[in-house]
Amino acid sequence: MLFLWDWFTSILASLGLYHINAKILFLGLDNAGKTTLLRQLKDNRTVSAEPTLHPNTEELVVGQLRLKAFDLGGHETARRLWQDYISTVDAVVFLVDAVDRQRLPEAKRELDGLLSSDELRGVPFLVLGNKIDLPSACSEKELKFALGLQETYGKDISSNHYDERRVGSPIELYMCSVVRRMGYRDAFEWLSSFLQ
Ligand code: GDP
Ligand code: MG
Repeated sequence: MLFLWDWFTSILASLGLYHINAKILFLGLDNAGKTTLLRQLKDNRTVSAEPTLHPNTEELVVGQLRLKAFDLGGHETARRLWQDYISTVDAVVFLVDAVDRQRLPEAKRELDGLLSSDELRGVPFLVLGNKIDLPSACSEKELKFALGLQETYGKDISSNHYDERRVGSPIELYMCSVVRRMGYRDAFEWLSSFLQ
């Protein structure tokens, strides 16, 4: 038991998430990889996972950390669910399927909507371009362009901090492969630098 707990906490620590008291929303179009990512974090150890209340949502609770995932785009019921929750959110992880170029405009629309919502003003956004294990995946540059993210916050975490005067949200894009467990460690370190 102790061993498992150590293992689990070391994974969270390596992601910069251990001991963080935060609510993190995982959003993105369906098929982006949200469930896979949450399951990985969950299966990585003993956690209390609440039962799925809705097919387009998921929740994972680890100590003080609450991770909640919702599908965006054409799921109005799910939208109603997360609208109740949005004002208490500390960070957003927005997953994008980097292979599905056809749906990038839809993903951009959803992301733009979130970035312009009053409730999420100043909340850090981590955008994950997922599925880079597939050869047809977009490059980081291509995805940045498609999502209108040419001007991001910067990946140097030594200077990250909340700045109350900032109007917009700090936002950064990382490419990853959830199934290969590649790329998202640095990404979560970046995000957690705003949460400590
Ligand atoms: P959700 O709708 O955002 O919850 O997406 P899912 O987690 O259900 O994933 C949708 C599909 O994409 C599933 O078939 C996953 O196995 C697949 N998938 C997720 N992450 C990756 C990845 O990193 N690489 C590849 N090739 N497929 C992935
Ligand atoms: Mg899902």
